[in-house]
This record gives sequence, C-alpha cells and structure tokens, in this order.
Amino acid sequence: MEDIILLKLGEIVLKGLNKRIFEDKLMANVRRRLKQYGNFRVYTVQSTVYVEPQDEFCDMDGALEAMKTVFGVVAISRAAACPKDKDEIFKMAKSYLGDEIRRAKSFKVESKRSDKAFPMTSIQLSQYVGGLLAEAFPETKVDVHNPELVVNIEIRDYSAYVHGIPIPGAGGMPVGSNGRAVSMLSGGIDSPVSTYMMAKRGVSIIPVHFFSFPYTSQLAKEKVIRLAELLGPYCGKLTLEVVPFTHIQEEIRDKCPEEYFTIIMRRFMTRISQRIAEANGCSAIVTGESLGQVASQTMEAMAVTEECVSIPVIRPLVCLDKTEIISVARKIGTFDTSILPYEDCCTVFTPRHPKTKPRLEEVLKAEAPLDVEGLVEEAVTGIERVVISK
Ligand code: ATP
Ligand code: MG
Repeated sequence: MEDIILLKLGEIVLKGLNKRIFEDKLMANVRRRLKQYGNFRVYTVQSTVYVEPQDEFCDMDGALEAMKTVFGVVAISRAAACPKDKDEIFKMAKSYLGDEIRRAKSFKVESKRSDKAFPMTSIQLSQYVGGLLAEAFPETKVDVHNPELVVNIEIRDYSAYVHGIPIPGAGGMPVGSNGRAVSMLSGGIDSPVSTYMMAKRGVSIIPVHFFSFPYTSQLAKEKVIRLAELLGPYCGKLTLEVVPFTHIQEEIRDKCPEEYFTIIMRRFMTRISQRIAEANGCSAIVTGESLGQVASQTMEAMAVTEECVSIPVIRPLVCLDKTEIISVARKIGTFDTSILPYEDCCTVFTPRHPKTKPRLEEVLKAEAPLDVEGLVEEAVTGIERVVISK
C-alpha cells in the first residue's frame, strides 16, 4: 500500500462553468511535471487532485517537491495509506502524525468516506479514532471548534488515508489557463520575478532576450539561459528566443542623440517583442520595470516606450520596492544567478544624461534617421531559439 499526494485547488474552484477547463489544465500540468518521477494516476474529486503512484518505482519525495511549483495548487498533503479498518487507521494516525499531534496544543479528527460500504459513518469514525488518539497523547487537548491540528482520514476505494498539516502550494492559476505573453528576460534581478508573477496568474510564457554580442559576452547569454531554466518548473514549457541586438544598438549609437539612446533602444525591444507575440499567439508583453527605479522607468518613459505597439505592456513589478522584488527572487531561487556580474545590453551604451521625461515628438525626431522596419526585420530573422523545457 502506497502513500498518495493530495493537492488542494485554489482560485480555480471559484470559476463556475470554466472550472472543468481549469482543472484539466492543472491536471495536464501536474502529469507533465510527474513524468520524470514514475507512473502516477492523477484525477480530481471535489476540488482535490489525487496523485496516486501506480507502482513501487515511483519517487514520492521527488513528486512531492515537484508539486510545490505547480500554479493553481494552494496546499499539498502527503497521505499515508493503511487498510480500511478502524484500528489500523488509528495505528497509522498515531505513528504517522504522532509528532505533529504532540507538538500541537489541540487537535480534532475529521473523516471523509467515498466508500459508503465502510461500516461506520464519518462521525463515528472520527469519534473512535479521536478518542484513542486523545488517550495516546494526553498532553494534547481535543478541540472540535478551533483545533490547531486537523487529523484527516479518508476512506477511499482501495485504502484508507491519513494526513495532517498540509504544506503550502505555489498558489495562482494553472499555467495555460489565462493566455500567452512574451516576457522580456534580461539577466537582472527584476525580470525573472516579473516572469514568475505572470506565469503565476496562469499565463504561458515566451521569454525573449536581447543579446548584443560581443558587447555582452557569451557568459551573459548563458546566465539568461540558466535563469530561464530556473523558471522552467513554474512556467512549464519554455523556449527562449534570443534576439541579435548588436546592429540596432550600433545604429542608435551612430545616428541618434545620446540622451535618447536608452528610450529608443527600449522602443526597439518593445516592437520586436510584439512581432514575437504575433508569431506565437501572445496577447501581451511583460517587463520587469518598476516605477522610478531608473531613468527609463518613469511614467513618461513608459508611455513613449509602449507607444510603438498595440498590445498591452504589463509590468507586474511596477509598484514593488527593490527589497520586495529581491525577496521573491530569493524565494523562487533566481537571485544568486541574477547577481552574477555579466553586462546586460542596457548598460553597454548608457547615456551620461538620459532623458527622464522624454516627449514623444522629440523621440520620433531622434529616431528618424533609423530604418526602423528594416532593423526590426533583420533582428527577427536572426532569432535563435533555445529550448529550455519541453
Ligand atoms: P532587470 O533587473 O530585470 O534587468 P533592470 O532594473 O535592470 O531590470 P532595465 O535594464 O531598465 O531594468 O530593464 C527593464 C526591463 O526591460 C527588464 O526588467 C526586462 O524586462 C527588459 N530588458 C532589459 N534588458 C533586456 C534584455 N537584454 N533582454 C530582454 N529584456 C530586457
Ligand atoms: Mg537590466
């Protein structure tokens, strides 16, 4: 008899008629993540996804770990299996949850039966097991109204299961349930976090990196690939689009006034992102900008940057402080890679006095000498695709 994993669904339970579609997406994502850990059966009953190993070769620890990055899951429990007999259930609860019961100030037992042939009602079973546990752990009070710990028992077709305090899931909504977006991924701290946050809202991500070889090194590119790999467990399928950006930057440097370098460069990034969005059925562009963080992140600069595209530019970090962004970066494991010291293309031709409040007419005049369409076309044609996760 094997343990199973129970996943509690979050917001998607609120979605009425769409619920089925959301659940199916979530289960597909769960199955995808479980593939490398063995042969599992995955199904949903009443807003809980059951993950059942089908043989003894399944890696349950690996599977449990993997489930922590699946968006749409709010809580995860590993449940121990035992025979469907009231005394066996008590014995399992005592050994499997003994430490948790001892540590808690109070507890209660809650039972659920999907096998209605079981000879006791849920209430009878809870009272029976609860009574024996209370005797076995006299230092922990029984409190049926506001217990610190709930000892859960489930009677299912082939086994009974016992589980206690769940661990937190990743929250959010299943990736793929809320459309697709292009996410501009630099090697910095911010954009991996904005990419993560967008995926958390159920959006499939096409990460895009603008690469200015030889001004930025091969190591800088490898760093971005590594960041994308770290985001893979959250985002699901990922293919990084690496856009050759050198020629555009040189053209800007040679033909435009210095104080507009950054804003013109960002307009190119945005245009190219829109082209990639169109080619991949994406409805938005995501960036890691945060209001006021640098000269190009004022509201005026943002307005000029997005003036050249028609799809929304979404900035999940716009109102977060750097310390808040860093704490997410640490939580999702991208921080240490982000702070590796490789140049980003934004820092290659940084103006000494960038315009913080650029006016559109002036920017249009400044970029007039450039063959915008031709440069965009050239960059898009040269895109290199790096498959991160399938
Ligand atoms: P980050 O920490 O994400 O690099 P930042 O604070 O350095 O951000 P900028 O360099 O102004 O800010 O970039 C703002 C946003 O533009 C980034 O968060 C990212 O979404 C996008 N961006 C910047 N450089 C690149 C790049 N080389 N490739 C892809 N996207 C980029
Ligand atoms: Mg940057």
